[in-house]
Amino acid sequence: MDGPFEIIARDGGSRARAGVLRTPHGDVPTPAFVPLATKATVRGLVPAEVEEIGYSMVLGNTFHLHQAPGDELIAQAGGLHRFMRWERPIITDSGGFQVFSMGHGNVADEIKGRRPAGRQEGGAIVSIEEEGVTYRSYVDGSERFMGPETSMEIQANLGSDIALVFDECTPFHVDRDYTARSTERSHRWLGRCLDWHEARGPAGQLVYGIVQGGVYEDLRAASADEVAASAADGIAIGGSLGEDKAQMYEVVDWATARLGGPHEHRPRHLLGIGEVDDLVRGVELGIDSFDCVMPTRLGRHGVALVPDPENRWRLDLTTARQRGSREPLMEGCPCPACAIGYERGYLHYMARARELTAMRLLTLHNLAFLARVMTRLREAIIAGELAEAAAALRAGQAP
Ligand SMILES: [Zn+2]
Repeated sequence: MDGPFEIIARDGGSRARAGVLRTPHGDVPTPAFVPLATKATVRGLVPAEVEEIGYSMVLGNTFHLHQAPGDELIAQAGGLHRFMRWERPIITDSGGFQVFSMGHGNVADEIKGRRPAGRQEGGAIVSIEEEGVTYRSYVDGSERFMGPETSMEIQANLGSDIALVFDECTPFHVDRDYTARSTERSHRWLGRCLDWHEARGPAGQLVYGIVQGGVYEDLRAASADEVAASAADGIAIGGSLGEDKAQMYEVVDWATARLGGPHEHRPRHLLGIGEVDDLVRGVELGIDSFDCVMPTRLGRHGVALVPDPENRWRLDLTTARQRGSREPLMEGCPCPACAIGYERGYLHYMARARELTAMRLLTLHNLAFLARVMTRLREAIIAGELAEAAAALRAGQAP
């Protein structure tokens, strides 16, 4: 093995692999889901709880932490790990997604076809140039700048184990020409990020390049080749993944098809994806790690993940039919929230009342559920039984 990623087993029928990602703050068994700690906390939980339910890495947000409390303050506090008392691996995104969302609308929602684009948190893009992006801060209205070097410097201050390069997350509604020009600029920014990191980056911090190219096969292939040819330690797949699941899988397939052979020892991360069926397919397509706001956001809105594919693995506890229900949240669930023994009727009442306890419990349950999905997939790859495990999960078997 040379590099941070060791592949310990491969699936014969797909591109799936099980591995160990080695970082300065410890190892991450893969394939893995990565919970969001956007603003230096997995909302509602303390580090010991995140660890207890099976996670070894979380994702912090470069843009938000730069705005508040400020990456320099975090550096003075000893870095992000010390600041949030999470001494395990942390990946930080580059901030590009949030900066460009101010101009493009909420890309995540658009990617998943949920609702039309809208402004994010009141910020605004002033200009996009080769050097970087000038934007108006949503915190104090001041004009600020973020470019490749700024993003890497912020991530150096945060001291994350894995930094992502600054790129433009191209949305679905832009045309091929815009996507092509943007992707080429992202490649130039990749080079600038790697140059800055080589000269000034923290020792041991890994850097992932990001494959862009929208929904265009040739652009995705060219971008995958470009990132693979760079010195990036790992490879993330970002940008618009299409308008439905079929297109998303196709786009991921185009990228990972180019990342085998001499490049296979680089870990691959799929940005912003976390639905159960997408995790299963992503693993089959050769993805090693995923992050997504879904399990924690759903938990805060009274929705639990359960083994029910017909309802997209969701149980909405806020609906009237859950009122007075004596059923457990999920029969046989080994998570710490279900261990208490609360009935759905009680959780329904608390979720409707917006009680913090309900948000916390459902966040715990949802994250524990996805952790078990990933463990199940990993063990199946190692045992040579991925096809059976994938079929069972898709059919609604509990992880
Ligand atoms: Zn549970």
